[in-house]
Amino acid sequence: MIENSLITLNENAVENNIAFLKKKLGNKVKLSAVVKANAYGHGIEQVVPLFEKYGIDHYSVFYYSEAIRVFDSLSKPTTIVVMGWLCDESIRGAITRGIEFFVFNIERLNMAIQYAKELDLKAKIHLETETGMNRSGLNVDELNDAITIIKENTEYIEIAGFCTHLAGAESVSNHVRIQSQLKKYKKMLTTLESQDLIPKYKHVANSAAAFVYPKARMDLVRIGIMLYGFWSSSEVYVQYINNKNNKFDPLKRILGWHSQIMAIKKVRSGEFIGYGISYLAQTNIITALVPIGYSFGYSRSLSNKGRVLIGGHRCSVIGVVNMNMVIVDISHINEVKVGDEVVLIGKQGDLEIKVSAFSEISNELNYEILAHLSESIVRTVIKQ
Ligand SMILES: *Cc1c(COP(=O)(O)O)cnc(C)c1O
Repeated sequence: MIENSLITLNENAVENNIAFLKKKLGNKVKLSAVVKANAYGHGIEQVVPLFEKYGIDHYSVFYYSEAIRVFDSLSKPTTIVVMGWLCDESIRGAITRGIEFFVFNIERLNMAIQYAKELDLKAKIHLETETGMNRSGLNVDELNDAITIIKENTEYIEIAGFCTHLAGAESVSNHVRIQSQLKKYKKMLTTLESQDLIPKYKHVANSAAAFVYPKARMDLVRIGIMLYGFWSSSEVYVQYINNKNNKFDPLKRILGWHSQIMAIKKVRSGEFIGYGISYLAQTNIITALVPIGYSFGYSRSLSNKGRVLIGGHRCSVIGVVNMNMVIVDISHINEVKVGDEVVLIGKQGDLEIKVSAFSEISNELNYEILAHLSESIVRTVIKQ
C-alpha cells in the first residue's frame, strides 16, 4: 500500500558511492557526509543509518534541528557539525551533546565560551574564515581577535576545525577566484598555527573541489551531492571521466520515486486538457492522472515538459502541474490500467528518468529538485 507516492533508497548504491569516494580520497582524508536539507531530500532518518552502516562517522548539516535529527538517527555518538545556523539557546544543547559548530563571528565565539563556562564543558568549534566568497566567516582582523579570545579561554574551546567555503569549484570560470581563496586560507591558517593553536581538521572542499582541486582536500572533505550519486556539474564529471579508460559513471543514484495511476480518461481531439489553454489535444488521446504535484516537489516548471515511465514507456506530462496531480499522455501504450506504477525518478525496465535529465528540462539544479522532495513522502530502503 502506498499513499500517493513512495521514495525508495537503494542500499547497494549507498555502499557503492561510499566505497568509490573512500577509495579516491584515501585514508588520510576524512569524509564528512553532508546531510543538510533532509539529506538532499533523501530523508535524514533513513539515510544516516545507511551511511553509518557503510562506515561514515562524520556528518555535516546546516541547522541545529537537523543535527538533532542526525544525533537521534545514529546508533552511537558520532561527530556532527552545524555549518550554519543555531540560535543562541541551541548552543547550550550543542555543547551538551558534543555537537560541533561553525563560528563565523566574534559574537558567536563569545556566546560559545559563555555557555561552555556555564556547563563546565568544552565547546567544539570550527573557525570559518572569509576568503573571498563574501558570505560568512571571520576576516583577518576578526581572526586575530578570535585568537586572543581563544587563548584566554583554552579550557572552554576546542578548535575542531579551521575552514572556508569555495565560491563555485564546479565551474572552471571561477578558477582564479578559487585559487585566491586557497591562498588567503593558507595565510590565515599560518596566522592561527603560529599562535600554537592547531585545528583538528583543516577543510575547504565540497564534492566539486575535492575532485577538481585535489590539493584542497586537506584533511577533511565535506561531501554532499556525490554521496547521493550525482556529479556537481557536467563539467566536473567530464573532467573526471576524460582521464579514464573506462567511461562508466562510478556513482550510482540512491533515490527512486514512484506513484501510480489514479484514473484513466479518453479525450477527443480539439479539447483543452487541465487548467486553462496550455494543452490542446491534437488527436484523440488517452490520459492518466497521477496523484502527485508541486506540493510534493514535482516542480511546476515540468508543466508540458516532464516525462514519467509507465509500462516501460516514456510518457509526457501534459498541461500544467497541479498542486496534487499531473496528467500524462498514455495514448501510445497498450494494456495500461488504474493502479499501474508511474516512475517519476528512477528506473522501470530499461528506461530511466534521472534527476539530472529532469532538471535539464526544468532548468533547476539537481540540488534544488532533491531538496524540494516533500518530507511527507514515505521513504523505504531497498536493495537492487
Ligand atoms: C552544502 C555544502 C557542502 C556540500 O556540497 P556538495 O556540492 O553537495 O558536495 C559543503 N560545504 C558547505 C559549507 C556546504 O554548505
